[in-house]
Amino acid sequence: MIVKRGYQAELDLNNAQSTLARKHCGAARWAYNYGLRRKQEAYKAGEKTPYAPDLHREINTLKQTEIPWMYEVSKCAAQEALRDLDSAFKHFFRKVALKKQGKWKGKCGYPKFKSKKKAIGGARFTGSIHVYPDAIQLPRLGLLRLKEHNYLPMNVKIGSATISEKAGRWYVSICVHEEQAEPTQATGEVIGVDLGIKTLATCSDGRTFDNPKALRKKLNKLKRTSRRHSRKQKGSQNRKKAKTRLARMHARIANVRKDALHKATSAIVARTKPASERPAVIVLEDLHVSGMLKNHRLSRAIADVGMYEFRRQIEYKARAAGVQVKFVSRWYPSSKTCSECGWIHEDLTLAERVFICQQCGVVLDRDENAAFNLAASGSLIEVPRVTRELTPVDIM
Ligand SMILES: [Zn+2]
Repeated sequence: MIVKRGYQAELDLNNAQSTLARKHCGAARWAYNYGLRRKQEAYKAGEKTPYAPDLHREINTLKQTEIPWMYEVSKCAAQEALRDLDSAFKHFFRKVALKKQGKWKGKCGYPKFKSKKKAIGGARFTGSIHVYPDAIQLPRLGLLRLKEHNYLPMNVKIGSATISEKAGRWYVSICVHEEQAEPTQATGEVIGVDLGIKTLATCSDGRTFDNPKALRKKLNKLKRTSRRHSRKQKGSQNRKKAKTRLARMHARIANVRKDALHKATSAIVARTKPASERPAVIVLEDLHVSGMLKNHRLSRAIADVGMYEFRRQIEYKARAAGVQVKFVSRWYPSSKTCSECGWIHEDLTLAERVFICQQCGVVLDRDENAAFNLAASGSLIEVPRVTRELTPVDIM
C-alpha cells in the first residue's frame, strides 16, 4: 500500500541561504495576510470571495509594481501560503457548521493575520525537489546541506517540502508517498497501557517508561529563565536576548520530551519484532485531555507527558505493524477498579500511588492496576501478569 509519511531534518544553512530562507517565509506570510485582507474586503463589499488562484494572479500583477522583492523568491512561497489560507477558511466553515448542529463546542478558529513578531514561520515548496544523502535541493534555494546524513528517504515520490525556523535552527520537512508492505497481523499478547504523570506509561506486561529525569531539572531552569525574561524592560535589547534564550530552552524541552515519547511508543508497538512478539491489541484509555488541562495543578505535568502525542504515535506506528489499537471510554474506572476481583475503590485519590483492594487484599502499583484493567477490557483473552516488585518508595 502507498502511505503518506512526513520526515523532518535539520538544515545546515550558510548566511546567504538563511537570508533567502527568511525571505521565502516573509513572502509566504505577506501573501497569506494579503489574501486574508482581500477576502475580508470582498466579504464586506458583498462580492464573490477570491480563492488561491485568483489571489495568486493578483500578486503576480503586483510584483511588477508594488512588490518587486517578490521576484527574489520562488513562486511556491505565495502559492502555497494562499492554499493554506483557503484550507484555513474551509476548516473554519466546517467548524461553524458543526457548531450550529451542536457537535462542536470549541472555538471555530477564524483565520488570523500572521505576525513576524510571533514567528518567522515557514514556506512550502512543490515541484522539483531532490534528496541526496547529505543535502536537499529546493526550488530557488538550491542545494541545502543537511545535518543528519542518510535520514531523508531517496528515490521516493516527494509531495512537498517545507522549510521552517524554530529557536534559531532551520528545518526541512518533506511529505513523501511511500510504498509500504502490508503488515502481517500481530499475534502477541494484549497490552494495556496506562498513561500517567509519575511514569510516562505503565504496561500490563510489566514494562514501565519513565519521564526523562532531564525534564524535571530543565523545568526548574525554565522557570528561572522565564522569570528573567519577564523582568526585562519591554522593547529592550536585553528582553530580546532573554526571549531567544527562553525560546531555545522551550525547544530543547520539547525535543527531550518528543524523544522519550518516540522511544516508548516504538518499544510498545515493537514493529521490527516477529508477529508473535508484537501485541495483537494495544488498549489505551480515551483520555479527555482538554478537560484535564483545565486543572491547573496538573496542567504542567499533563502537558509534559504529551498524552495526545503518545496516542498519535501509537496509532500510526501500530497501523504499520499490524497491531490493533482499542480505546476504553474515559468514564471506565480503570484506576479505581481492582484488577483481581472487580471491587471499585470509589474514593481513590490521585495522591494514592498504590492500589490496595479492601475486598481481596491485593496490593498493586496504581498505574499497573490500571494497565491490567485496560488490557482485560480490550479482549476476553486472559492477560498474563508480570508484577513488578513494589519498592518502599511506591508504598510511601
Ligand atoms: Zn480485589
